Amino acid sequence: TSVTLLAGGVGGARLAHGFARALDALTCVVNVGDDTERHGLHVSPDLDTVMYTLAEMNDEERGWGLTGESYATLTQLERLGEDTWFTLGDKDLATHVVRTARLRSGEPLSAVTAGLAGALAVTARLLPVTDDPVRTRITTPSGELEFQEYFVRRQHADAVLDLAFDGIEDARPAPGVLDAVTGADLLVVAPSNPFLSVEPVLGVPGVREAVRSTAARRVAVSPIVGGRALKGPAAQVLESLGHDVSALGVARLYAGLVDVMVIDAADEALAEPVRDLGLEVLVTDTIMGGPDGRERLARELLALA
Ligand code: GDP
Ligand code: CA
Repeated sequence: TSVTLLAGGVGGARLAHGFARALDALTCVVNVGDDTERHGLHVSPDLDTVMYTLAEMNDEERGWGLTGESYATLTQLERLGEDTWFTLGDKDLATHVVRTARLRSGEPLSAVTAGLAGALAVTARLLPVTDDPVRTRITTPSGELEFQEYFVRRQHADAVLDLAFDGIEDARPAPGVLDAVTGADLLVVAPSNPFLSVEPVLGVPGVREAVRSTAARRVAVSPIVGGRALKGPAAQVLESLGHDVSALGVARLYAGLVDVMVIDAADEALAEPVRDLGLEVLVTDTIMGGPDGRERLARELLALA
C-alpha cells in the first residue's frame, strides 16, 4: 500500500511517524506557507518538524526543533543586535545554513529537502508542496502580520480576521506532488490546522483538483478533539472565521474532498451528523501520544484503504 499524507507541522509529523513505522511507501506533501527568513537564512518550520520527527530527532516535549539543543549562536546573535524572538538552536541552524546555501546555488527546495532528509536517514519521501515561494499572511485587528510574527512573536493571541497565501496563484506543485496524490492507494489529510496548514497545500493550483480526481481512498483526521485543538490556534482560527469548533466543523470543510472522516472517540456523538454530510466515519482514539499510538492510528487508517 502506498500512502500520501498532506501535512503541516506537529499534527502531520506525528501521523507521518506512525505511517513510517507501518510501511515503506510514504510520501509527505508539506506546507511551506510558514517558511520565513531569519538572519538571512531560509527556515521551513513544517518541513523540518516532519523531517526531524521522522528522523526521531524531534524535541518531543516542545513539539518542534531538535533534541539536545544548545543556544550559543542565538545568544551571540542577540549580542550582535539581532531580533531573536524566533528561537533557533545551534544544530537546527545547521539545517537552515545548508538549506540556504543550496537554494542560493540554484537547487530547488524539493531537491534540497530530499538531500537533507536523506542525510538524516529519513526513508519516507518528503516533498514541499511547491518549490515556489508561498507566504501566509494573517489579517488581525491590529493589522496584517507575517505568519511567524503572528504565530511565534505574538503567540497566536490575535483574532484571525482573514488569511492570504502570497504567491499561491503562481505556485506550481513541486515535482512528484501531483503524482503522489493521484498515484497513492491511500491519501490522508493529516490532523493539521485546516486553514494554516492544509489550505496552503490544497490551494497550490492543481493539488485540490488532484485530490478530487484521485482513485485513492481519501481520509481526513480531525485536529479538533472534544471541541479543542491539542496545540496551536486551530480552535481560535475556526471560530474567528465563523466555523464550528468541532470535528463536525472540520468535516464540513473536507466534505466533498475526502471519503472518510476520522474523529476521536471523545466526539462519538458527532458521528451521525458527519455521516449526514455524506462522509464515512471512523471513530477511534486519535490522540497520538508516543510512537506506538501513532503507529496504531496509522494502521487503522491503512485498514480503510
Ligand atoms: P503546526 O504546523 O506545528 O502548527 O502543526 P499542524 O498544523 O500540523 O497541526 C496542528 C494541529 O494538530 C492542532 O490543531 C492539533 O490539535 C493537532 N494535533 C496535534 N497532535 C495531534 C494528535 O495527536 N491527534 C490529533 N487528532 N490532532 C493532533
Ligand atoms: Ca506550521
